[in-house]
Amino acid sequence: MSILPFANQYVSELVAYKPGKPIEETAREIGMAPEQIVKLASNENPVGPSPKAVKAMQEAAAHVNIYPDGASYAIRTKLAAQFGVGFENTAVGSGSSELIELLAHAFVKPGAEVLAADYSFTLYEIVTKLLNGRYISVSNKDKWTTDLEALAACITPATRLVFITNPTNPVGSMVGQAEIDAFMAKVPESVVVVFDEAYLDFAEEKVDTVKFVKAGRNVCVLRTFSKAYGLAGARIGAAITTPEIADLLNKARSPFNVNSIIQAGVLAAMDDTEHLNYCINVIKSGRKQYEAAFAAWGIEYVPSHTNFILAKVGSGSEVFRACLQQGVILRPMDGYGLKEYIRISIGTEAENTRCLEVLGKVLGKA
Ligand SMILES: *Cc1c(COP(=O)(O)O)cnc(C)c1O
Repeated sequence: MSILPFANQYVSELVAYKPGKPIEETAREIGMAPEQIVKLASNENPVGPSPKAVKAMQEAAAHVNIYPDGASYAIRTKLAAQFGVGFENTAVGSGSSELIELLAHAFVKPGAEVLAADYSFTLYEIVTKLLNGRYISVSNKDKWTTDLEALAACITPATRLVFITNPTNPVGSMVGQAEIDAFMAKVPESVVVVFDEAYLDFAEEKVDTVKFVKAGRNVCVLRTFSKAYGLAGARIGAAITTPEIADLLNKARSPFNVNSIIQAGVLAAMDDTEHLNYCINVIKSGRKQYEAAFAAWGIEYVPSHTNFILAKVGSGSEVFRACLQQGVILRPMDGYGLKEYIRISIGTEAENTRCLEVLGKVLGKA
């Protein structure tokens, strides 16, 4: 007998998050060695984690018989110092993904509304529907830029959360400080504004949203160690928010949500700013490599503030398959309703060169 009739319908109707295609699976399918495959599909750091973080994690592995510090005291103290806020303004999760889910647990119930811009990270919609809330996607300005005025206009008394990814994924666009300030002036106190800044490290322009937290606004700033710090596989993300919201997140999480290995790793990674800056520079110069090639080929792309670039290639799924056959994994965008586009995560210079060779052949440009 199927148990599905007894499951929550709003859960069985969900579409599961679809990650990038794994290297091992691709290698098996096309008969190449995993080392020959270039994966530029999941916005991962192509350089790798800080060697100091790796060493700290190796040392921590010897002590995994002991439960981790459930309060993540050392990390939160370090975050508080870095962002100029109090310890009580911080929370950490198993990736910022967990913090996104915990925000939904804290604020979404049946009938509650959650707003985000078109082409946002699909997790916002998943966690909203998981709690039987209403997810509302708001059209962009000029197709690609988050329309903060429109988002503010869509707020109703039922709105609980507004997610603003800045810079955005999978588009790579960004909104600036003046627009954010104007938006915050319109948002009522009853709404929690979540600034998901997973890619801010790669932006040329910096914005300050922590200032709203310092001013006591109901804002939650999300940062991750998955992208610029290269710790995606170890899972840790941070929230800088009001003491009330941090407390709610800490109540909603499981007791040992951030394991002891990554706690040791991230402390070392936060001290290794040299490695961090090196990784950011690799991305910035890689971005130029793609932009130059696309300009030369006459391929439309969205100027990127992130570690990936969205390009218009005709049929994204066909280009994805053709590149896959050559051992280059890109990310098709059908799931976002962007069938003509492909998203390419920036790799090392050698990976980008290989990707551009393959893509050039597939597109008949090189
Ligand atoms: C990658 C990404 C994150 C980070 O996710 P983690 O769970 O911290 O790995 C968060 N938000 C967006 C929009 C992202 O693309």
